[in-house]
Amino acid sequence: MFFFLTLLSLYRIGRTAPERRREHVTPTCRRLPPDLVANTSKVERTMNQEASLNSRKRKRRNNRRKTEITSTKLSNTTVTHSANLSVKQLPSTSTVFKSSSKPSSFLEKMKAKLSGGHFRMINEKLYTCSGGEALNYFKEDPSLFNMYHTGYQEQMSRWPEQPVNIIMKWLKDHSSSLVVADFGCGDARLAKGVKNKVFSIDLVSNDPSVIACDMSNTPLDSSSIDVSVFCLSLMGTNFPSFLQEAHRVLKQNGWLLIAEVKSRFDPNNGGADPDSFSEAVCDLGFTSVSKDFSNKMFILLYFKKKPKNNSSREITWPELKPCLYKRR
Ligand code: SAH
Repeated sequence: MFFFLTLLSLYRIGRTAPERRREHVTPTCRRLPPDLVANTSKVERTMNQEASLNSRKRKRRNNRRKTEITSTKLSNTTVTHSANLSVKQLPSTSTVFKSSSKPSSFLEKMKAKLSGGHFRMINEKLYTCSGGEALNYFKEDPSLFNMYHTGYQEQMSRWPEQPVNIIMKWLKDHSSSLVVADFGCGDARLAKGVKNKVFSIDLVSNDPSVIACDMSNTPLDSSSIDVSVFCLSLMGTNFPSFLQEAHRVLKQNGWLLIAEVKSRFDPNNGGADPDSFSEAVCDLGFTSVSKDFSNKMFILLYFKKKPKNNSSREITWPELKPCLYKRR
């Protein structure tokens, strides 16, 4: 037994390491004929040689690449240094741009979404409450007014034409001596764009020239105004009382100009019938002079105050549906 074991271990030691490895890794080889096994080991050797050659090549290639990267880094450093030298204290603009551009655009997007949401909320509020409630709403937090107007300007920038510009043009085509009351003036663009004396009225005054009040109850004298303007401002649920106030402050034959969102006057889409609205305004003491439906986004109605209002019948006002903006 001992003799047999010694013989076996001598046999194992006698074989080359690759032979032993082959036996372990490719047991099938053992079953192949000896010439094939010889050929296989030849092929294996060639493969091994090729593999080591390839690995050497790869190493050389990697080394070359490393050298290239290092030199690029070095040259970058050189550029940065020379830029720093020439721009002195300024930080490298490319670094600032890269690190700040993405987050800031993301922040900008988030901010825009938030302010868009705030705008839509305030807008809805103004269309669904009375003028008095709207006044209190802004009194509680006047910063909401700026928020509203940022969103409003953003929406208006999408309109091909601004109704306030049409009204401006109308005023320029008439005498600059006409005294104007701009009901719901916003940022008082109308007053800034014409030579006329303009009383600008809104719920909040961010400018000394703007009178802050609910436009159903202004401090303007009766029969003191030549032109009353409502440019996209018939927002409150009590809009007839705004028009009543405009009638009060207007002189005889004074003008009433109304620009309103077209969809509010589209009976096929839940909007008011423009004729019944016009009729109600006439019942208040006006004569309809002209209507302009040519613009895609808004309508323009021109009235004149009757010298005397003989009508005593009760006025039936059509409902003016709120103008709500969609989320974008
Ligand atoms: N006429 C301006 C702004 C239109 S936005 C323009 O065309 O650019 C409508 C404006 O009407 C808002 O500024 C809003 O605050 C104002 N408004 C709405 N209800 C009001 C009320 N009851 N009294 C005074 N202003 C009012």
